[in-house]
Amino acid sequence: MVEDNRLGNDPETTSTPQAIVGGEDEKTVKLLSQMLETNVLEIKPQLDYASESGYFYPVAEQILGVKGGEVVSIMDSLADRGILKRDFFDRLLRCPQCQSINMRPSTHCSKCGSGDIARGRVLEHFLCKYVGLEEDFVSKGRYICPKCHQELRTIGSDYQSLGLLRKCRSCDEVFHIPLIKWRCLKCNSLTAEDKITEVNIYSYRFNEEKKSWLEFELQPKPQLVEFLKQRGYEVTEHATMKGRSGAEHIIDILATRDDGVVTYNIAIGVKIAGDEVALSDIFDFDDKAYDIGIHDKILVVVPGLRREAEKFASQQRIKVLEVRDLETVLSSGAPKPSEEIKKEPFEFKSKSQLIEYLKRLGYQVEENAEVQGRSGAKHNLDILATKDDGLVIHHIAMGIEAAEKPIELDKVFDFDDKAYDIGILDKVFIAIPGLSREARQFTQRQKIRVFEVKELEPSG
Ligand SMILES: [Zn+2]
Ligand SMILES: [Zn+2]
Ligand SMILES: [Zn+2]
Repeated sequence: MVEDNRLGNDPETTSTPQAIVGGEDEKTVKLLSQMLETNVLEIKPQLDYASESGYFYPVAEQILGVKGGEVVSIMDSLADRGILKRDFFDRLLRCPQCQSINMRPSTHCSKCGSGDIARGRVLEHFLCKYVGLEEDFVSKGRYICPKCHQELRTIGSDYQSLGLLRKCRSCDEVFHIPLIKWRCLKCNSLTAEDKITEVNIYSYRFNEEKKSWLEFELQPKPQLVEFLKQRGYEVTEHATMKGRSGAEHIIDILATRDDGVVTYNIAIGVKIAGDEVALSDIFDFDDKAYDIGIHDKILVVVPGLRREAEKFASQQRIKVLEVRDLETVLSSGAPKPSEEIKKEPFEFKSKSQLIEYLKRLGYQVEENAEVQGRSGAKHNLDILATKDDGLVIHHIAMGIEAAEKPIELDKVFDFDDKAYDIGILDKVFIAIPGLSREARQFTQRQKIRVFEVKELEPSG
């Protein structure tokens, strides 16, 4: 039986081969960074018969500050994800009684199991059929049969040599292949070969193909996550989301933030290719984001994009960042105080209070903004709020509609149409004193955030 020394085959980590190092514990990150920095590209085991497992990884133990099985399970989990490659190093035999690897083989009679066997040239006396070791025939320089005591004279005519064989001193069996048993030098027990536990041990080397991916995971990615968190985003790495099609998608980094006015979702995809990121990668990412319904899309590409992919990305309003660009964004420093998260209820009694509120949230506000749509038509937006959070520029189209009774569908429809023509996807509608049922249903379908307000005081 072959038992693998691999521990920690946790299904959660193995089911996602691309799992992120960011979610990893410090030790793993330390091991990988050290391997990269110091160019330790292979971690080899060292045999140690005194230890319980029989081997250890001195370099990894030194880096990780832990010993034995824990080291092996960290390296195996990295190997399961293709970050390290596992090479066969040796196979150890382990005593099934006491687990020691201090095992010595011994040969035994294949018939009776006795250890009292001799090895040598075996002769057969034709006359009496006696078969025995040559040394047992020798007597004063002649061959005398120990059974019938006749002299053996001519090989081939009265006796023959059967070759080098073994003979059991206990049961006289003559045989070619002895039985191997293993003596444990620790607990002294004797174990048949098929009952021995075999343990494969491996050396681990760095998977060069994963190098740029890993460099990204270890350096800019945690910084990007931190950057987003500082700006009030909730960040989920490796987020699983269900699309409108029913399919489940995984977004490398999902950043979500509700600032009280609009809920922002940013899908960040990470594409690392050996050469250049291809068009199909951009398609995949764009399809995913579309199916989930996320319009703020950022794609981090290492090393860069092909020209046709670049063109498609800009058409689809995907912001593409190479690691260099990302570093520029990340070094832009901590957010201004106005960009800190404020958990105050979105309440306002007048339009001027609303604008005040938006400004406090860090928006640039333009009232009665004249904006040209894609159709060429000029539109008037009650409020156009813009905010650059360093990574994405958010535009919100806001419509304010006041009437004696609930606002009807046609008004909301007009507003949505306008926003669509301008190309703004974050939409807020303020309805005084409220919305009709059809109008509300429409806003839900069109993802328009609605604030129903009883009355609005004239701005002063
Ligand atoms: Zn025997
Ligand atoms: Zn004989
Ligand atoms: Zn033992």
